[in-house]
Amino acid sequence: MTEVIPHWLTKQADLSPNKTAIETSDGEELTFQQLRDQSRSLAKKIAASGVREGNHVALLAANSSDMVAAIHALSYLGAVAVLLNVRLSAAELAYQLNDAEVSCLLYDEDHTELALSAVDQADCSKSCSFQEIYDQTETTVALQEELVLDKLFTIIYTSGTTGFPKGVEHTYGNHWWSAVSSALNLGLSKNDKWLASLPLFHVGGLSLLVKSVVYGMPVHLMKKFDIDLAHQAIISGNITIVSVVAVMLERLIKKLDGGRYPDSFRCMLLGGGPAPEPLLEKAKVHEIPVFQTYGMTETSSQIVTLSPDYALSKLGSAGKPLVPAQLKIMLDGKPAPDGTVGEIVVKGPMVTKGYYKNESANGKAFHDGWLATGDLGKLDEDGFLYVMDRRKDLIISGGENIYPAEIESVLAGMDGVKEAGVIGREDDQWGQVPVVFIVPSHSDLTKEQVFKYCRERLAKFKVPKQVYFIAELPRNASNKLVRHKLVDLLEEAGS
Ligand code: ATP
Ligand code: MG
Repeated sequence: MTEVIPHWLTKQADLSPNKTAIETSDGEELTFQQLRDQSRSLAKKIAASGVREGNHVALLAANSSDMVAAIHALSYLGAVAVLLNVRLSAAELAYQLNDAEVSCLLYDEDHTELALSAVDQADCSKSCSFQEIYDQTETTVALQEELVLDKLFTIIYTSGTTGFPKGVEHTYGNHWWSAVSSALNLGLSKNDKWLASLPLFHVGGLSLLVKSVVYGMPVHLMKKFDIDLAHQAIISGNITIVSVVAVMLERLIKKLDGGRYPDSFRCMLLGGGPAPEPLLEKAKVHEIPVFQTYGMTETSSQIVTLSPDYALSKLGSAGKPLVPAQLKIMLDGKPAPDGTVGEIVVKGPMVTKGYYKNESANGKAFHDGWLATGDLGKLDEDGFLYVMDRRKDLIISGGENIYPAEIESVLAGMDGVKEAGVIGREDDQWGQVPVVFIVPSHSDLTKEQVFKYCRERLAKFKVPKQVYFIAELPRNASNKLVRHKLVDLLEEAGS
């Protein structure tokens, strides 16, 4: 039987009409009723541009209440929202527009030039600014009063850290279960207000909008992460939960400067990539309730979470799979014994059914309803997950496995090191050996100091054989380290 629920925003506007749904750091505020009315009106205006049920409509915009309304408007139309990263180039956007078979691109005024240039290079025939849409006259169109959980709601591209970005399909059901499983884990409080400083075009940001309408919870929306505004909002803005990536947490702790967050602040949800242990220790010192998470675009945000109760005893673990999710570690086609590293494989109702029209990627990733993540990890004897690194980045040196993230995490704690990226270099004797690229935070740092620091903290075979100082590390539009570009740098350096 196909599961159907009432449209989640209509429902919440009925249950909590006067409750704040969205407040922005510019002081704008919308109740659930206002957000519903604005989204439904916008849906009829988008329909005036020819968009119909089932069409793929891309959004290229920074976080704003208009962006929130546009996302809900597309759900009222039964159209599929393709969320684009504003930091991509026009050519990269054109690739995604074509790949996702987008028929219309909507953009905010700040991204006009980028949007027009992308459309110019793509097959997509139509584009409109948000203002042009608001200027339209509403057309008569049947809006979705119900959401069919099996139906496609969004397509979001992976970050493209290991290769070409892939278009991940999310159904309403994937988003619904992601919101429900997070609530089953964190609990709900009537006073909750979630700070959204992650972009809405990433699944971690988008998931907050679904949580908002499913829980009846206000979201404090920031245009982009601003350290002063974020700090201020947590200190005095009744924020109870924040979603961050490691670099944001690092900056927030620095800003906190030995201080403490209010008692009402209950959760710092940390995800998006590896969490260096020195950072988790600093958070502990500041009594910040960090929930480490593991997830990916394919799992509609986090699928594994560690609560602060275990932050010390299970330091560095990403925790256990959420209530409706399952996880296995697979090695050579069989479940790996506890403590043995293998590929992380997950299953659950928040996991995507596949990549849009990408049979080759689907064939590799999905087996019997399980998704092979491409990440390496291990379970301890209590079933806690430790994410080691991406399978593609594993270094095998003299038969020993070396995880670049472990060396990077150790170096993150070194004074004078701003950031570090580790890759393997071919070696006649060992097969591969680790080498490190370091962005120094001061000019006095020497290579000898780096070797010494590593020798004191790492097994001999993990100590990088070469240190390269570099001005910045290659990162993608999601700000993730792209290690295969370091390999190119190594080749250029002639090593
Ligand atoms: P692509 O799939 O195109 O290479 P990507 O995997 O970086 O890009 P995302 O979906 O944005 O795209 O990122 C998910 C990935 O982030 C995970 O598969 C994992 O490698 C990494 N990650 C997420 N959480 C953690 C964590 N707690 N520890 C280590 N790595 C993590
Ligand atoms: Mg990935």
